[in-house]
Order: sequence, then structure tokens, then C-alpha cells
Amino acid sequence: MFKRIVLTAALAVVAVAGMSAELLAQGGRGGAAAGPQKLTAIRAGRLVDPDNGSTATNQIILVEGERIREIGPNVTIPPGTEVIDLSRLTVVPGFVDTHTHLAMTYKEVPENNIYYYTYVADSTALRAIQAASNAMQVLGSGFTVICDVGNNGNYADTALRQSIEQGWIPGPTIIPSGLIISTTGGQFSPTPEMYKGHNIVYPEYLEANSRDEIVKAVRENLLFGAKVIKICLDCKSWGYSVDDIKLFISEAAKGGAKVNAHVQTRDGAQRAIDAGLHIISHGQQLTPEQHAQMAQKTIYLASTDTPFTPYHGSAQGQKHAADQLRSAWEKGVPVTFSTDMDYWSEQFKNDKGEWMNRGDLTINFLLTWKAAGIPAKDTLKALTINGYKAADVYKDQRGPIKVGNFADIVAVEGDPLVDIDAVRRVQFVMKNGEVFKRDGVITVDKLLHPGPVKAFRRR
Ligand SMILES: [Zn+2]
Repeated sequence: MFKRIVLTAALAVVAVAGMSAELLAQGGRGGAAAGPQKLTAIRAGRLVDPDNGSTATNQIILVEGERIREIGPNVTIPPGTEVIDLSRLTVVPGFVDTHTHLAMTYKEVPENNIYYYTYVADSTALRAIQAASNAMQVLGSGFTVICDVGNNGNYADTALRQSIEQGWIPGPTIIPSGLIISTTGGQFSPTPEMYKGHNIVYPEYLEANSRDEIVKAVRENLLFGAKVIKICLDCKSWGYSVDDIKLFISEAAKGGAKVNAHVQTRDGAQRAIDAGLHIISHGQQLTPEQHAQMAQKTIYLASTDTPFTPYHGSAQGQKHAADQLRSAWEKGVPVTFSTDMDYWSEQFKNDKGEWMNRGDLTINFLLTWKAAGIPAKDTLKALTINGYKAADVYKDQRGPIKVGNFADIVAVEGDPLVDIDAVRRVQFVMKNGEVFKRDGVITVDKLLHPGPVKAFRRR
């Protein structure tokens, strides 16, 4: 054992000696900042700013490496720049799903849609590969930021983020929560045998009951790569108190993370609001009065609005979700686009009998937004600006199409400010300055790599 440690240390010294100081600073070979940056100029027929619902015509967006260098009607395009003509399309910033689970896929067969069994049958490794595929599928539909809020086995979500950040595979910016922190039991109702003898709740839930356990659980998640802390606030009648929630918030803040809570009762929602939580997930029991309080305190809502489709949901379920969403929007709550997609069915087919992919299924949650009568302009804002704020990516210069920001750029057919269904017609996707989809076709040939080409320390 000792010999192995010595050898490993010696190899590390040799490896480090062979690297320049600059490469080391970037965290390894092939750091994106090395050498001259690739220039790309996008000719945007229409460029929409979803923050104020305005449109500028005939703009040029000059992208240098991963970031936007210049925007305007008369930008000089340097020689050697690759020009992408999107003059017939509408350019918008990338979309955000503020509540999903890329590494969880429960099914009718064999587990009768009970994810308790899925997690027994599907290893974290299998689920991580599902997540990698799902990440590319949602990016193809224009989702450049994904809040992946737990139920991902043993940190498949933070591994997914790392694989994308390091450049192994293309994908959205993942805001992973790591394990969902909960009081005893999580969302499970196990037998004493499975609970005591097999520790069946872990790793789908990380239990924390006392204040010391809360601090420890938050730190563990941050250590393993969480960028948001997800808690099960009222999954059991003995859920978290206002003081507990405040402790989560202050401890998460030490790692630069916000807190997102699963909330399923009116009483739990009130505790979340009183504690000043960042984002409430689900919230199907919220009252108009609570919506007003959320608006006043700028608490984001990820209401996970399941639509009624031939493959999932119910008319009654969609109506309730739409009524709740409508109330939140009317009261001025910063509403976000969120899905809670974590299942698969043999019925996931379109009118032509073709499989719908995870991106198609995700954007189809628009049905509930339309049923709620939310104007296209506000739905687009929820999909983008409110999503960036809820995901807390502004601090990383990500989100709006703006000089200095990462180039996360989408182009659609039609005008989403008038007809929100235009966002279903994504023809072009750029993430961090790299083209992922063009002319409606995903191309990954230049985006798959045999190593961490963007630096091995990127997390
Ligand atoms: Zn969920």
C-alpha cells in the first residue's frame, strides 16, 4: 500500500513538472482559455430580450471562445470568423427547467411507476448514463440550464455536471442538488426491516433531523458538488421548522448555494415563506394569499405543471395546476418553467407514432401554461429570465444574451413573443460558444471528447 502511495506521488510530480503554470492554473491540459479563441458571428434576423419583451432586428452577435464579445447592427466581423446565418429565425437566450430529475426514469413496466422500485433496480451508474443522454436531449430543445434536484442515486447529478463542465460530453449547465435532505424517511414509507436492516432510504434521501445533522448534510452535499440544496420540507408531518429552514439557508450560503424545497402542504408552504426560502417546488396547495407573500418576498415558484396528454396526466390535474399557476402569475410571483419529468412510458409518441424525446416531453409542459392563459411574453420570461434567477446563474455571467456572458444562444422559427409554440421549433442551439444544433439537426461529432478537454478541475 505504502509503495503504491509513493509511486502515485512520484507520478503526480512528473505530471505536474510537465505542465506549464498556465495550464495548471486552468486545472489541466486543454483549458479553454489557452491559445487564440475561435470567433463566430451570428446574424440574427430578430433578437428577443425576454426581460422586457423587446425585439431588435438584424443584429450581429460576435462570440469569442465561450463568451459573447459584441452585439449590434454594425459589428465588424474579423477575417477568419465563422459566420452563422440565422437571419430568418428569432434568436432567444437558452431555456431553463428549474425542477427536473435527469437520472431518474420510472416506468409502468416493471415497476408500476413506483420510483422506490426503480431505485432498487437501476444502479447509479446506469442512471448516470440515462442522465447523460437526457442532458443532450433537453439541450436539443433549447434548455441550456437545468436544475436537477435530487433522486439521482448516489450523486449521478453532480457527476453529470462535472462531465459536461470538463468537456467529455455536451450538455446544459446542470445545477445539481446532490441528495435530497430530509427528516426521517424522506418520501419513502419503508418497512422496519428495509429501513433498519438495509438503510433503504439512502441514497435517495440524506436524513437530517437535528441542527447538527442539518449542517453536516449540507456540507456533505456541497463537498460532493451540489450547487443548490434541495430539502424535503414537509414530506412527513414532522418536517422542518422555520428555524431549521433558516439554518439550511445560512449553511448553504457558505457554499454559494440557494435552497429549493419540495413543499406539499399549506402549512409547510407558510414555513418556507416565513423563512425566506429561495425557491418553492410544487406548491400545489399554495393559497392566493401565500402567492401574494411570495411575490412580496421574491420567492421563486417551480410549480411543476404536469399537462394532460395522451401519454400522461389527467384533465383534473392539469386544471388544478393551471389554476394555481394563474393565481401565482396574477399575484406577481416570479414563476418559472418546471416539469418534474422523471418517468417514461410506452405511450411517449407523437401523432405520427414517433418517440418523443426528453426535450419534446419537457417543452410540452407549455400546454399547462397555455391552459392557464399566461401571455406568451410572460411564459418566455419564465422560461428564461426568471429561470436564470431561480437557478442563480447570473453570478456566473450566464443567461441573457449580453456582452461578457457565456454564449448560450437558441434560435426558433416564428415569434415566441406572439406565439409561444415557436419555442417548440428550435432550429439552432449554441452552448458556451459551441454549436450543438444547426438547421434543426443535432451534431455532436466535435463535442465528444476522450478526456477533460476543458480542464479536469472544473466542477
Ligand atoms: Zn421532483
